[in-house]
Amino acid sequence: MEKREELYAGKAKSVFRTDDPDLFVLVFRDDTSAFDGEKMEQLARKGRVNNQFNAFIMEKLEAAGISTHFEGLLSANESLVKKLDMIPVECVVRNIAAGSLCRRLGVEEGKVLNPPTFELFLKNDALHDPMVNESLAITFGWATEQQLAAMKLLTFQVNDVLKALFDAAGMILVDYKLEFGIDASGQITLGDEFSPDGCRIWDKETRKKMDKDRFRQGLGSVIETYEEVGQRLGISFD
Ligand code: ADP
Ligand code: UDP
Repeated sequence: MEKREELYAGKAKSVFRTDDPDLFVLVFRDDTSAFDGEKMEQLARKGRVNNQFNAFIMEKLEAAGISTHFEGLLSANESLVKKLDMIPVECVVRNIAAGSLCRRLGVEEGKVLNPPTFELFLKNDALHDPMVNESLAITFGWATEQQLAAMKLLTFQVNDVLKALFDAAGMILVDYKLEFGIDASGQITLGDEFSPDGCRIWDKETRKKMDKDRFRQGLGSVIETYEEVGQRLGISFD
């Protein structure tokens, strides 16, 4: 496999073409952004930590029968993935109230959400990723009804696998965001990444925040804490 030219650069990762038309290289950079790119910083080692964290999680999900784009690690901060036609809608599941749900509905942070909630947000920084629903997604052609149903099912399957994984390691999976795309055979496939950048994780005993809220809220020790999460899960970082 040969890495070719950069296709696009997002806020935290860059996507490169390869000599195989069905495979891309994802490069995880140290760039860290919050509030739709308003707060931007470089955090040393973040790219490597998130790449290896994501590889571990994607392998767990594959082992549980969830189809993901992950093909393998290429280096400390690069992964080989299946090329997907990305669906521009983010799927968010919440087990515990935090973040925008609390701001929007006045719910107290920490409230247990039973059953867990499922929300859709349009991926659009200029519009600040507005909340949307299935009707809007279908009408505007972002996804079909069948694709949305598959995304919802997979998002909750991921919850069953990861809630148990974090719980066994003394942590609570509060909420998380997933992105899906369509692979060469037309199958809905989990893409992008799962790392502490795109989820909330709290320590079960102390409720210490162990995710990107440390960066958003200026709590410090961001990457050291991501590494602590990984180490508790059994990841040894390069
Ligand atoms: P953002 O778009 O939020 O700034 P990133 O910096 O993480 O995000 O950029 C990564 C980009 O790559 C995102 O637009 C994401 O949707 C896209 N992407 C992730 N996985 C794949 C894939 N397998 N195929 C094509 N694009 C992908
Ligand atoms: N999230 C994300 N990218 C986004 C929006 C949200 O990774 O563009 C994640 C976020 O880290 C959290 C979950 O999705 O784990 C729910 O985010 P929320 O809607 O509460 O928004 P926030 O408070 O992060 O603005």
